[in-house]
Amino acid sequence: LVVIAATLGAGDSFPRMLQRAGLASSDIVQVLDLVGGQIKPGTIPPGTRFAIRLGARTSPAQPRPLEELTFRPRFDLALHVKRSSGGLALATNAIAVDSAPMRIRGIVGGSLYRSARAAGAPPSAVQDYLRTIDDHMGFEEIAPGDEFDLVFANRRAADGEQQAGDLIYAGVVRANKPVLQLLRWGKDGAFYSPQGMAEGSQETTGFLGSPVNGRITSNFGARRHPILGYVRMHAGVDFGAGFGAPIYAATDGRVSIAGWHGGHGNYVRLDHGGGIGTGYAHMSRIAVSSGMNVRRGQVIGYVGSTGLSTGPHLHYEMYRNGRTVNPLSMTSITQRAT
Ligand SMILES: [Zn+2]
Repeated sequence: LVVIAATLGAGDSFPRMLQRAGLASSDIVQVLDLVGGQIKPGTIPPGTRFAIRLGARTSPAQPRPLEELTFRPRFDLALHVKRSSGGLALATNAIAVDSAPMRIRGIVGGSLYRSARAAGAPPSAVQDYLRTIDDHMGFEEIAPGDEFDLVFANRRAADGEQQAGDLIYAGVVRANKPVLQLLRWGKDGAFYSPQGMAEGSQETTGFLGSPVNGRITSNFGARRHPILGYVRMHAGVDFGAGFGAPIYAATDGRVSIAGWHGGHGNYVRLDHGGGIGTGYAHMSRIAVSSGMNVRRGQVIGYVGSTGLSTGPHLHYEMYRNGRTVNPLSMTSITQRAT
């Protein structure tokens, strides 16, 4: 008898793996036929482990016959091919799976990462939580006595296997009251507060997807600056647009800056309340003045190339509590309960 433990590699195929394990071609054909009635062999994920038992050769020239093959092609399914007097036969074993999401709550002070990991939350869910909170709140606002409250997708199989998934809820609790409640929603997987979701359904309080008629030429994040030549944080999103194209207020607000502003050139900053602001740089001409109230979609200036700019474009930025955040991460103003 020969017992083999095999793992399906990335880019590997199920029949090739069986061949390498020493199965006879006739056995491989039978296995594919049996297994193919349950799953598409091409869908077996890389990393799947196989327990293979081969019997004694009937003659030295013959390959060993397959006696037993066990593997788990899906989280909720185990397959077992076994030789009996009538030849190879397949037994399927459906594994019960509990898909209830998992919730973790505890005191922030130092224990977040440990508590989350102890509950089986994957590091990616913890990182997701920290990033999401940071996008909406700022770590400096979190007090040591605050509680984290997070929910992530989770699957537990009856045989004890656990498969943790994405973060689906991120909250911060202070004195038993939620300070921040964010729910993952929609195809893009962005997080929204309940208030933000309600506002998102009213067009007037959402942000324009694009404050200018143009396409994105540079995203928010680290990049090599085209003029300064070294890598620095690009604190906004660039839209390529024709010289003189109108620039619209992303949402209702009050003009807090309108004028020359260093590398921003001709610049307009709008204050939208709730600590949220938007900035519009490199304008050829400014169409508003400081202190004015503007409506969403109102023209506030025109595309140009003033300040540190290599050509006509809109450098669009968003501020939360004075710090730049990715403007595309926010689709509506999210008010926080106090
Ligand atoms: Zn820019």
